Amino acid sequence: MNITTQAVQIGLEWDSRTGAVSVPIYQTATFRHPGLGQSTGFDYTRSGNPTRQALEDGMARLEGGSRGFAYSSGMAAITNLLLLFSSGDHIVVTEDLYGGTCRLFDRVFNQYGLQFTYVDTSDSAQVSAAIRPETRALFVESLTNPLLKFADLPALSALCRERGLLLIVDNTFLTPYLLKPLDLGADITVYSASKYLAGHNDTIAGLVVVKEPQLAERVYFHQNSVGAVLGPQDSWLVTRGIKTLGVRMDRQQENALGIARWLKSHPRIARVYYPGLDGHPDHDLMQRHSRGFGAMIAFEVDNPALVEQILLKTRLISFAESLGGVESLITFPEVQTHADIPPELRARLGINNVLLRLSVGIEDGDDLIEDLRQALEG
Ligand SMILES: *Cc1c(COP(=O)(O)O)cnc(C)c1O
Repeated sequence: MNITTQAVQIGLEWDSRTGAVSVPIYQTATFRHPGLGQSTGFDYTRSGNPTRQALEDGMARLEGGSRGFAYSSGMAAITNLLLLFSSGDHIVVTEDLYGGTCRLFDRVFNQYGLQFTYVDTSDSAQVSAAIRPETRALFVESLTNPLLKFADLPALSALCRERGLLLIVDNTFLTPYLLKPLDLGADITVYSASKYLAGHNDTIAGLVVVKEPQLAERVYFHQNSVGAVLGPQDSWLVTRGIKTLGVRMDRQQENALGIARWLKSHPRIARVYYPGLDGHPDHDLMQRHSRGFGAMIAFEVDNPALVEQILLKTRLISFAESLGGVESLITFPEVQTHADIPPELRARLGINNVLLRLSVGIEDGDDLIEDLRQALEG
């Protein structure tokens, strides 16, 4: 079945008693036991809740994994995965990484003895060279933030298999609609569902899908032990968001390509990063493995003074953090999303004082271009 159809079907099977098409919001902390030593399958909402499970099962089906897990945020989801490791373990990480993930690794989990090495994961020689006897995993973003480098997952998963490492993929920017990392050899996918999956800039949530049942058991143990679970109301919102994932993504990508081409031809724009453009270094690789190029664009203006002008003058496009929702948003990574990345690394990556990041929404594409034009041309 096509993933567009699968996404619409999430939750439909949940209430056979009334036939409710939308999964009910089981706003309950606990569940009555039918008898001594008996359970309906649900005992206490931290351990399991039907609304959350509808989302978790649906997500596992979309990805082709054995089990899904929903958390109170993307960071809570990544935190839960780090609990698979012990003090002394080492993880190789893609260097062009979401700032919050970098902060979690270097300023929280470092304190508990986990070690992280950041490399350019598009270069498998660099990945190989970073692997040590105590390395346990490779953590990458399928499409990086903010510079939109695409990870060669078949190559990386072959390397991980050879060296006995878990491959964990943050697939937030692409979603299973465009890329299914588990089919390309990843062991675990993780999402900030606050972005494209929920899709309406109205919910904070995280999701994990695990391929192998045994590993899923360990992840469940941590989900239940730590308890950073997604509540029933928010689980319902994410489920509702996922139902329209296909149509939203199609429209957002179409808008993004139009805007990227327009930006590229504008005299005040010095550089455009969008993998859907022919000149992007990962264009061909991404065309082979991904169903699309996503709807994130980064671009450089020709003068730092233009940054503030654009942020203040765009009217349709909101100056706000986050991404992936129906409303277009623009942000300045150097001082916002990526402020926690060490300055030397930021400079090497190309996150500088003229770089802006645009999350393209589902508005009319011409209206968005006109908004950018009037902001740029003052
Ligand atoms: C936003 C984001 C996160 C963090 O998710 P939250 O839901 O904000 O906690 C992690 N990874 C990527 C790529 C993100 O964009």
